[in-house]
Amino acid sequence: ATPTALLVGTGRGSQLGILIRGPEVLEQTRRVDTVVLDKTGTLTSGRMSVTAIDPAAGVAEASLLGRAAAAESGSVHPVAAAIIAAAREAGVAAPESEGFQAHDGAGVSAVVDGSAVAVGRAGWLAETWSVEIPDAALASITDRESAGMTVVAVVIDGQFAGSLAIADAVRPEATATIERLRALGLEPVLLTGDNAGAAERVAAELGIDDVRAGVTPVGKLDTIRALQADGRVVAMVGDGVNDAAALAAADLGIAMGSGTDAAMAASDLTIVSGDLALVPDAIRLARRTLRTIV
Ligand code: ADP
Ligand code: MG
Repeated sequence: ATPTALLVGTGRGSQLGILIRGPEVLEQTRRVDTVVLDKTGTLTSGRMSVTAIDPAAGVAEASLLGRAAAAESGSVHPVAAAIIAAAREAGVAAPESEGFQAHDGAGVSAVVDGSAVAVGRAGWLAETWSVEIPDAALASITDRESAGMTVVAVVIDGQFAGSLAIADAVRPEATATIERLRALGLEPVLLTGDNAGAAERVAAELGIDDVRAGVTPVGKLDTIRALQADGRVVAMVGDGVNDAAALAAADLGIAMGSGTDAAMAASDLTIVSGDLALVPDAIRLARRTLRTIV
């Protein structure tokens, strides 16, 4: 491919709302055979909402929600936005928080009103924070996860304080996008840090067979490398801080413009509007550009 023809492709990309880091990026897309897609915020809208609040015995619902929202106030994750919105809608004031820490792909922690509060995946809280989650609460978390929800547990001063179930809708253009990827001969893979139930619900709706759930940010990077070691040429589509390492390692990293700066900085392409339908367009554009030249 000549540099001039590639530049034409780059210009067409920006008309479509696809920002391309450099013309050489288009050459990499030609051999892509596998497209790995993050779930939350990529295949789904990322506009999550709290659908159930399950406080532990002796914990008031408002106190659970308010403290969780306060701990999440420093987070850019869709789960955080859902919890903060739920507290606001319930008229619960979120107390001041300090010492915020984001644990990518797992949860958050902060000091709220003098109490240590952590919100995140139950497995992470149990392992990293040695929190004991009562069997009945674990059973209810598992039930909600099997129903396809994302569930986070809340821990206050080392004690399990309850859980919040959160739901997210698949993007309206996602089904057609997956069909178009297949028509282009590309194999879709769903890769998520979320639980298997939530991942399977989305995969079933979209007809994706290869599903990898409960994967940490480092695990996402390892997944890309393992696919490459298998001889696959991999495009990765993601939006989160948790996707950045995988986006950088992929043969073609594609960031959703609706996502985080970290994802965009790590990627070769950015879909400015976050319209998933432009993913197959980006790959077709590159193929067409190269065909006219060769
Ligand atoms: P995905 O790969 O679907 O984008 P992430 O890797 O960002 O998901 O997160 C994996 C899981 O970690 C989430 O489903 C949630 O349970 C938990 N988690 C991540 N960020 C937060 C947060 N800010 N607050 C609570 N839980 C979180
Ligand atoms: Mg995401």
